Amino acid sequence: MPIAKDIIERLKKRIDSYRDDMVEFQKEITAIVALGPEYKGQGEWKRARFIMEKLKSFGLADISEYNAPDDRVPEGTRPNLVVRLSGKKQKPAVWVMAHMDTVPPGDMQQWETDPFEVVEKEGKLYGRGVEDNQQGLVSALYALRAFLDEGQKPPTDVCLMLVSDEETGNALGVEHVLKNAPDLVDPRDIVIVPDSGNQDGSMVEVAEKSILWIEFVVRGKQVHASMPHVGINAARAAAYLTVRVDEALKKRFDKQDPVFDPPGSTFEPTKREANVPNVNTIPGEERFCFDCRILPDYDVDSVLKTAREVAATVEEEFKVEVEVNTAALMKAAPATSVDSPVVLRVMEAIREVIGVKPKPMGIGGGTVGAVFRRHGIPAVVWSTMDDLAHQPNEYCVIDNMVQDAKVFAHVFLNE
Ligand SMILES: [Zn+2]
Repeated sequence: MPIAKDIIERLKKRIDSYRDDMVEFQKEITAIVALGPEYKGQGEWKRARFIMEKLKSFGLADISEYNAPDDRVPEGTRPNLVVRLSGKKQKPAVWVMAHMDTVPPGDMQQWETDPFEVVEKEGKLYGRGVEDNQQGLVSALYALRAFLDEGQKPPTDVCLMLVSDEETGNALGVEHVLKNAPDLVDPRDIVIVPDSGNQDGSMVEVAEKSILWIEFVVRGKQVHASMPHVGINAARAAAYLTVRVDEALKKRFDKQDPVFDPPGSTFEPTKREANVPNVNTIPGEERFCFDCRILPDYDVDSVLKTAREVAATVEEEFKVEVEVNTAALMKAAPATSVDSPVVLRVMEAIREVIGVKPKPMGIGGGTVGAVFRRHGIPAVVWSTMDDLAHQPNEYCVIDNMVQDAKVFAHVFLNE
């Protein structure tokens, strides 16, 4: 539905006027470290309290808490907040979910500035968390603020879900919220997760591949290399196994889906563990892995089954024993349909505000958008970013942060 031009222009202008405020807010929250206990952190409590005070100072007073008990952190709880701006109607509500926690800085030698003290340089803010996921949090929050300051009621409710524990598994964050408040988010609602994106803001992530890590252990018999006939060479068997698995998986699971980049499933031999330290020993054991990213229409078990069938041929031919283990498995959530309301609405906002051609895409896997999709809620992952998540010298492009707020305002105003 076309939206009122004069209102969106006013909202955009208002958002421009917040630029310095948004930068200041980034600086303030970065200084309040929010690391989960897995990272020896104290959790997100202090940061959440600060954000709540900020929200109230904007006039956003409708805040509900869905906190998850956790005795590993000083306050004994991991905060999850839902901030609601009432619309003319309640439903379908528009949601933006962002996480308050970050990963640790990692190797401090690689940081050129203090990760917890934001430095502004050439239009960028440097610091841990400024992009992942504070950019999305700040953009969405200031988009909401613009509605209040312009005295505009959005057509339907707009909610921000600010969660904990995203970097360490989601159980005490978004999973906790959806489990404890099953009616909070409706499958007809619009859900955007601004936690990944590309540089021009054109990528709307709608689907993910399943992730399967397979470990192969090949056992033969270690002997002196001059006497191969009394041993069983695990290195040779592993080499044949690698090639045969590679060929068999690529051949059998060869479907292409242009929504994905790359369009097919991928099967990559990756880690290989050291075997013997010297050249004149025939190895008795080999251990190596495949990283598989599988299109959602394939059953992950059939990939494993194929790997086992291939392993059996190598066992037979080379007289080795082969163990095939699942080292990790994350089955893909159902994809968000490219003509679902959330996709159409986000794409329209991208076209109108950024002026680029939006593209719904699938990726190799692993975003928090999948949590919603597993609950039957179509969600998209979108934002404009260089994607520096978890890297040293993480930065946020200030223009992206401001522009994304305008895109959110457009989505909030649509219906
Ligand atoms: Zn993130």
